[in-house]
Amino acid sequence: MAEEPKETKPGFLNPVAGFGVTFKAMFKKRLTEQYPEQKKPTAPRFHGRHQLNRHPDGLEKCVGCELCAWACPADAIYVEGADNTDEERYSPGERYGRVYQINYARCILCGLCIEACPTRALTMTNEYELADTSRANLIYTKEQLLAGLEEGMVDTPHAMYPGTDEQDYYRGLVTEAAPGTVRQVAVSKGEVPPEEASAADGHEQAPKKVISR
Ligand code: SF4
Ligand code: SF4
Repeated sequence: MAEEPKETKPGFLNPVAGFGVTFKAMFKKRLTEQYPEQKKPTAPRFHGRHQLNRHPDGLEKCVGCELCAWACPADAIYVEGADNTDEERYSPGERYGRVYQINYARCILCGLCIEACPTRALTMTNEYELADTSRANLIYTKEQLLAGLEEGMVDTPHAMYPGTDEQDYYRGLVTEAAPGTVRQVAVSKGEVPPEEASAADGHEQAPKKVISR
């Protein structure tokens, strides 16, 4: 029969001993984060919300290849590619991503999609406040994911820098939009060319933006 362990301290101290742990913790550095009142910056390579990047002249880097969607283990990405034309160009190459959606109700922020992207069109930001009360709001569209315009950029659609080809864009030879670059009319999205709109009602008016899905 096993021998009973010997008592090292008087029995009446046992209920008090537990408070020793509490007492010691009172003087330790607090680990509780006061979120959302105080927001701590993330690590630089933190996997947050995605971003669809642009070339320095504003054209989109996404070529609508769907490799990101195939790489995604959570089936969270939906892409529909379409052909560029000289009259309506979104990216330097043949194709562009016409529809691009990421469902953040599914995404696990693993980053496999950005590894699969051949053009570095898709990267991840440090933004982590993605919670929402509606599932529909968690499906981010291309318009939400597309990077904003920086200095020297013109919004798509617009023509490529004159005298360059697709390869020049990927070699980094295009550093800004050519002087005089203007945004084209997005007929595929329901925009009416200004001359047709003014002929229809007898007035000149700005292009109307209607996004069709
Ligand atoms: S981060 Fe992972 S789960 Fe989220 S869209 Fe990319 S591949 Fe899919
Ligand atoms: S984000 Fe990259 S991988 Fe995904 S469709 Fe666009 S170019 Fe292809």
